[in-house]
Amino acid sequence: MKKAVLITIGDEILSGNTIDTNSNFIATQLKNIGFKVVQIFTISDEIETIKKTLKSAFEIGDLVITTGGLGPTKDDKTKKAFAEFFNDTLVSDAETLEHLRQLLIKRNREHLFDINLLQADILSKSKVFQNHNGTAPSLMVEENGKIAICLPGVPYEVKPLIKNQIIPFLQEKFEQNFIVSRIISVVNFPESLLSETIESWELALPENISLSYLPIANRVKLRLTALGKNEEILNQELDGEISKLRPLIQNHIISESGDSIEEILRDLLISKKLTISTAESCTGGELSRLITSVSGSSYYFLGGICTYQTQKKTEILGVSEKLVQEKTVVSEEVAQAMSLGGQKLFKTDISLSTTGVAGPNSDEFESEVGTVFYSIRVQNFEKTFKLYLPHLERKDFMNFVSMKVLQDLI
Ligand code: ATP
Ligand code: MG
Repeated sequence: MKKAVLITIGDEILSGNTIDTNSNFIATQLKNIGFKVVQIFTISDEIETIKKTLKSAFEIGDLVITTGGLGPTKDDKTKKAFAEFFNDTLVSDAETLEHLRQLLIKRNREHLFDINLLQADILSKSKVFQNHNGTAPSLMVEENGKIAICLPGVPYEVKPLIKNQIIPFLQEKFEQNFIVSRIISVVNFPESLLSETIESWELALPENISLSYLPIANRVKLRLTALGKNEEILNQELDGEISKLRPLIQNHIISESGDSIEEILRDLLISKKLTISTAESCTGGELSRLITSVSGSSYYFLGGICTYQTQKKTEILGVSEKLVQEKTVVSEEVAQAMSLGGQKLFKTDISLSTTGVAGPNSDEFESEVGTVFYSIRVQNFEKTFKLYLPHLERKDFMNFVSMKVLQDLI
């Protein structure tokens, strides 16, 4: 297996201001074509440091990919470090300059400043991958059968460059293996119990097939990845393994397509011709956001309301004041009343509601931080659930609860 080393360049990553998501994305993409990422460096924007790290990276990897520091500003030094490391000079590239000119015209900027011109400088022996989403091109240098590629730092520039240009280039260059993956989504099966249940199956997997667990809310995605020379044979192998796995976890599989919960919900609601609405409180609209995050949701999602203050639950959803006083606002009964109010308001088959304390403070509530009740109403049938998630931060809490509601609905 070919080895790859990633280098993340940027003071803003070392200072903690930016989270390095590029390495994560690139590593996943490289894995998919059979590269093993053996090391990831995070370093500052200093020429000497970049050169030193390139040297170390080449000692261990066949492929070195850097991100960051390709901009035209003084703090960006990657290109210069590459030129020095490869004993090369920077020359202006006519094709890149024209690409840059067209890009800036699209952005309504006719004039190229000196600083823009610098972006068209490339190493004389480099191959250019034009950047369609930004001004810094990606460059590739090959030496002694090893390859170095520098990429800009901005993630939305990095992703298409990697996916559309660099991965196909590497596949052709190294005649890499095929990778075929399948994702099986399993619900209501704690990860530890799941792993115990399928242990003997997992241990018997052939060497070219690997399994990973990706837990999300109360769902676990099992990803099976097969590596080999022939795509058709890999598919057959995966089919065989999955048919052995299925009987072990039958009732817990909600999807074998790798689709997200939102997509599974969409297909389900469209096929059953059901409509849905939300009446949220502690999730602050996250539930509606998730439902509407897939195209086609306007067919079944009629609307959502976020009644954050207790008084609004009464005014808009018809939750009785007396009930709130008797049972408190974070209660099973109020969750039920909210989903009923939402169902009447939007006239939908399905109504979902959430009420809870996201924290970190619970002063206004009588309930503990992390307590949530949610109600799922499908036509005349209703079920309320309780969760206690004191360890989650607000945003994670809202997302987790919303995911859980959708999973339980499915
Ligand atoms: P620019 O032309 O915008 O200066 P650049 O190639 O010089 O691009 P950087 O200046 O290093 O890239 O980074 C630009 C921005 O991209 C950073 O401010 C940061 O928000 C983001 N970024 C950089 N590196 C990473 C990374 N590894 N992961 C996620 N985001 C990153
Ligand atoms: Mg920069």
